Amino acid sequence: MVIVLKENPNPKQYENLLQWLESQHLEIHTSQGKHQKLLGLVGDTSVVDIDLILALDIVKEVKRIQEPYKNANRTFHPENTIIQVGDVKIGQDFCIMAGPCSVESEEQILEIAKRVKAAGANILRGGAFKPRTSPYAFQGLEGKGIELLLEAKAETGLPIVTEIMDLSQLDLFDDVDIIQVGARNMQNFRLLKELGTTQKPILLKRGLSSTLQELLMSAEYIMAGGNPNVILCERGIRTFETFTRNTLDLAAIPSLKELTHLPVIVDPSHATGKSRLVEPMAYAAAAAGADGLMIEVHNNPAYALCDGPQSLTPDAFDNLVQGVNHILPHAFRRQN
Ligand code: PEP
Ligand code: MN
Repeated sequence: MVIVLKENPNPKQYENLLQWLESQHLEIHTSQGKHQKLLGLVGDTSVVDIDLILALDIVKEVKRIQEPYKNANRTFHPENTIIQVGDVKIGQDFCIMAGPCSVESEEQILEIAKRVKAAGANILRGGAFKPRTSPYAFQGLEGKGIELLLEAKAETGLPIVTEIMDLSQLDLFDDVDIIQVGARNMQNFRLLKELGTTQKPILLKRGLSSTLQELLMSAEYIMAGGNPNVILCERGIRTFETFTRNTLDLAAIPSLKELTHLPVIVDPSHATGKSRLVEPMAYAAAAAGADGLMIEVHNNPAYALCDGPQSLTPDAFDNLVQGVNHILPHAFRRQN
């Protein structure tokens, strides 16, 4: 339930209302917009008589929220959430995360980090723990991979994003700027709960066959634990089509922006699986109003240990960033 207050509510009446709501064991999330204050109520709101609240002088409107996600719901929090990572304000500035699928060696990650930074990336990506379909495939450099990412961060100044696969790895992520929860772990609820007890920005990727509501419920797990810093990522879903690795759900971008105040970024690399499709889908995502992109870049895609066929060369990435910058002034923006 959301209570919308009139402008400049009488402080005494406001205090009384808060006290009464608290006495009903409701959790209150306040949100101050440009013109009005909202009170989001979480808990058993069946105890609240809407007509009684509406009768108060300071109350403008009372709305029941149908959706089961409360913290992530835009109705609760009309302003976009902005998450600052390094110099970039995700949710406000367009943000580009780029780097290899997996960290392979010191030379590889340092070279790619320098190239993507020069091209305009804001954040360096690279997998240290890799969720591979085959147990015989390269599984990542693990702790050593995180050390190498931190070295690339120190060298270039780029913040880093990397994937966690299991709770037992959490200690290794202390200096990681954004923790990625991959598509395969989107519904690892124990992991989400634990990440909710931190204040780290979490990049939550949409599961292979997950609905938008399921994605938002997973974000809710993190937020309900006290961590509001969630970034959503559309990375393609499973459909009957096999030409592309997945099917990029472009409509998810304006849909999520309508349903939630959280930033939405798009990963056209995993969505398509083909490097030649990454540039057009990145342009489409930027035009549809995404808050950013995640792009796989490799200095030698033919020899990449993971996801070479969908990886861009640094030159192709440079070209993509220039194209995106031309599109951004014309991109769709929802009216609040
Ligand atoms: C990745 O980003 O390398 C990755 C494994 O992504 P996803 O979880 O979207 O498949
Ligand atoms: Mn990958």
